[in-house]
Amino acid sequence: MADRQDHWVFYFDPNRCIGCHACSISCKQFHGRDSDADDWRTVTHHQNANGQHPSASEYDPDTASPIENVPISMSCMHCHDAPCEEVCPTEAIEKRDSDGIVTIDQDKCIGCKYCGWACPFGAPTYGDNGLMSKCNMCLDQGPGSGAGAESKNEQDDPIQPNCVSDCVGGAIKAGPEKEMIKEASQAAADRFKSNNERVIVEPFQGNESNLNLVEHAASENAGD
Ligand code: SF4
Ligand code: SF4
Ligand code: SF4
Repeated sequence: MADRQDHWVFYFDPNRCIGCHACSISCKQFHGRDSDADDWRTVTHHQNANGQHPSASEYDPDTASPIENVPISMSCMHCHDAPCEEVCPTEAIEKRDSDGIVTIDQDKCIGCKYCGWACPFGAPTYGDNGLMSKCNMCLDQGPGSGAGAESKNEQDDPIQPNCVSDCVGGAIKAGPEKEMIKEASQAAADRFKSNNERVIVEPFQGNESNLNLVEHAASENAGD
């Protein structure tokens, strides 16, 4: 079994994300997903906690907090503990020993949706065919295509996932944990390791409320 350090993870820097959705469009095109669907990679836009739009009558430009839009790009995190794998009754989901990528074998899936409920991020997507699919780190094209694919490593397979290579701002990266940690700031690396989080996220260089928002969106407490 490969060391955890060799398992692939995502890295996300909200300071570089411009909210353009190029990543999610790129994913949809490569995998033949519905362009309107909330799907394998999504970009959501959040406002800081103090940035509620006040009604016009209450608005005071001298005292109002600045409203800031924080885009967050999320997909399956290929969790080290993979709760989706644990609940799947047919063992359709595999956390691959070789590279840590979590795949769904649609030949085994019965569409019970347990994985979708267990996933802290709601990453598995229920398809028109009645089966689940999700990000497969671009092992191949189409739903279920990652199951059984050769293991991914940077030497033999240096091609980056589509969302990574098409990210305009360089906000998303993917690779073995030991490589992604080198990309991260000390604060991001410390948080990833100490909180057992599932994606390496840079601290947001905004105010405290925005920082909390990004951390929560990227942590296993995202649904709290
Ligand atoms: S993010 Fe969700 S779907 Fe992906 S490995 Fe974790 S639990 Fe499974
Ligand atoms: S929907 Fe499919 S992959 Fe998900 S838990 Fe049920 S059988 Fe497993
Ligand atoms: S790695 Fe591939 S499948 Fe996963 S979100 Fe990015 S483009 Fe989509």
